[in-house]
Amino acid sequence: MKKIYIQEEYCIGCRLCEIYCQVKHSKSKKIIKAFKSEQGQLMPRVLVEEIGHNSFAIQCRHCVDAPCVDACISGAMKKNISTGVVTCDQDKCVGCWSCIMVCPYGAISKDPGERKIASKCDLCEDEEIPVCVSNCPNEALKFMDMEDK
Ligand code: SF4
Ligand code: SF4
Repeated sequence: MKKIYIQEEYCIGCRLCEIYCQVKHSKSKKIIKAFKSEQGQLMPRVLVEEIGHNSFAIQCRHCVDAPCVDACISGAMKKNISTGVVTCDQDKCVGCWSCIMVCPYGAISKDPGERKIASKCDLCEDEEIPVCVSNCPNEALKFMDMEDK
């Protein structure tokens, strides 16, 4: 399957990936509206880590045998068998945080909204290319099948 791969040597820590991810998953889907009226409800599903002068963006690896899917007590966390994408059905999530505890990459967050629900990368399933990848100015994120490399 196609996944997002990091090329940290090109990342300048601008966090545009985080910004476009938040807009994509906002109610309005508009950058100004989202940042002016939805503050407190926005949460990026890609997180930029900085260590000294080095930075890199981390998000879900859509594991083959996903520990978060095995740990989920409500059936909210699912792996699509045909696409390989791991998603959280927020209507089914009960906010037990089992998935957060078992994810080896720290790729799941608590949604900042009023309901206790998990939030994670869904690879922007309705887009050809995830928005973090398409809006990175330096091509520090690549969306590809490793076998095509
Ligand atoms: S959230 Fe974590 S455990 Fe689940 S598929 Fe993604 S990287 Fe793997
Ligand atoms: S927090 Fe939600 S998605 Fe995570 S394990 Fe619990 S019910 Fe499943």
